[in-house]
Amino acid sequence: MVRNRLSIEAYVEGVLTGNRLVLSRAITLVESQLSSDKELAQVVLEQILPHSGRSVRVGITGVPGVGKSTFIETFGKHLTQHGKKLAVLAIDPTSQLTKGSIMGDKTRMEELAHDPMAYIRPSPSGGSLGGVANKTRETILLCEAAGFDVVLVETVGVGQSETLVKGMVDFFLLLMLAGAGDELQGIKKGIMEMADAIVITKADGENKAAAQRAVLEYQNAFHLLMPNANGWSPKVLTSSALEKRGIAEVWAMVEQYMQLTMANGFYTRHRQEQNLEWLHALIRQSLEEQFYQNNDIINSLPQMEEYIKNGKWLPMKAATYLLGIFNKNKVI
Ligand code: GDP
Repeated sequence: MVRNRLSIEAYVEGVLTGNRLVLSRAITLVESQLSSDKELAQVVLEQILPHSGRSVRVGITGVPGVGKSTFIETFGKHLTQHGKKLAVLAIDPTSQLTKGSIMGDKTRMEELAHDPMAYIRPSPSGGSLGGVANKTRETILLCEAAGFDVVLVETVGVGQSETLVKGMVDFFLLLMLAGAGDELQGIKKGIMEMADAIVITKADGENKAAAQRAVLEYQNAFHLLMPNANGWSPKVLTSSALEKRGIAEVWAMVEQYMQLTMANGFYTRHRQEQNLEWLHALIRQSLEEQFYQNNDIINSLPQMEEYIKNGKWLPMKAATYLLGIFNKNKVI
């Protein structure tokens, strides 16, 4: 047992009573790579599970500079002023590659960080993006058990992290700049397909007219996409975090979406599907870890890589050979 760990009861009780210090320590516990911590984390999670699930989970993505932190700060303040307890979690795809993160956690969302109704947790570092995402899923459950009404999961829109976030939220919001990269050129159709709404940011000053034009263009683009299984037509809104306009409308839209999907059954079905996806992600991740940590694999892999580089073996043959070693190992 690691010295500064709490007892199971202390974690559970602390989280359920909304004690932030204990919540933070519980999150650190689920993020830990130590196997003794993993066991403890599982027990804690099992005990808080009946108290989780009740928040509105919202994903927010957008390229760096689109105004995510400013938007979240203003949107977050709007929520807390309306009596909602808000947790903000981040999945930062850069933090595994570089020492710093492009989200620059410390100085962001300063007002929200001091709001007693809000809780901001920076991205867990280390591990694969998939692994980080799994910790974020567990962190969502802990925040819910601690009584947060809304959980925002933020990511930088630069790659596969959006897909991961989409897989853990009820509502997925894409922030876009008007006129950047001449509208649709810049974004991948795949990300648009994931979005339940686009919010054009910085719709103020000279940007206003361009923002209105962008609304029409994105609305048209949404019409070209296949209709959603959830009965919801994706919306396009504008906002100015600086002037605090369009913010209440975004939350009203999320509430409207929740009402619709709870009434038509999509909400429940969607969360069930997400849990199944989570299961399979964990299985894949765990198998991969076991494979690469296996001593015989560690010993044989460099030679196989050499064979492939020299054109002596095809990758398929090497993979079959290595999996053979791995499976034999498992049986014994
Ligand atoms: P992030 O990288 O997506 O988190 O973007 P930031 O929130 O850091 O914002 C990037 C820049 O855009 C900053 O200089 C902000 O001051 C500016 N910005 C953010 N929101 C607005 C807005 O509503 N209006 C205007 N005019 N500028 C904004």
